[in-house]
Amino acid sequence: MHIVTLSFDDGFLTSNMKVADIYEKYNLSACFNVLATRANESFGDFKLWNELQTRGHEIMPHGYRHANKSTLPLEQAQNLIADCLNIFESELESFDAHRSVFNFPFNASTPELEDWLPTLVRAFRTAGGGLNPLPDRDTRKLTTTARGPGNCEGHLDKEIEGLLSVPSGWLIYNTHGLDEEGWGPIGADYLEDLLRRLVSIETVTVLPTGKVLDRYC
Ligand SMILES: [Zn+2]
Repeated sequence: MHIVTLSFDDGFLTSNMKVADIYEKYNLSACFNVLATRANESFGDFKLWNELQTRGHEIMPHGYRHANKSTLPLEQAQNLIADCLNIFESELESFDAHRSVFNFPFNASTPELEDWLPTLVRAFRTAGGGLNPLPDRDTRKLTTTARGPGNCEGHLDKEIEGLLSVPSGWLIYNTHGLDEEGWGPIGADYLEDLLRRLVSIETVTVLPTGKVLDRYC
């Protein structure tokens, strides 16, 4: 059993619309991790996140703003996360923080935040390598990898090769935008080819993080 999650961060409007369309061609759900407050109009808003969610995609929190929480005083980092989750509760239909996955900006967390966060959310994603064991009921910490600032396709291919070389596992790969957009992008054509290839492999399932936890825990 091999699970692949491409974890698309930051909420780029143009890229996320394209990603959703590409996933829908294969009847798959994409995994979008977005900010509670958007910096400018190149990012989507909760109207779009609700639409994408209705179309079957997963929307998860990536922070109140894009703050590196490993460099902030603990209480300030905690307040930003709590404020982020409050906005999600009020803006994203049927959002339940206790069933959500919090995706740290820069994949930067601290031991104190990791101890505290499961009181608010179901699991969190931070740095530590893309290959995770298959989850169980006690899974709280998910780890991921990424490559940038240029195109990350070669690195992602290697990570998928690594996943397929072990008997079972869950690759959580942190992607951002498509083509030229965002840090460490992948091409739209590459994404389409990759999904076509992955769905043809019998042992592989492509799912967003929350749905993996729903299905396997
Ligand atoms: Zn980010």
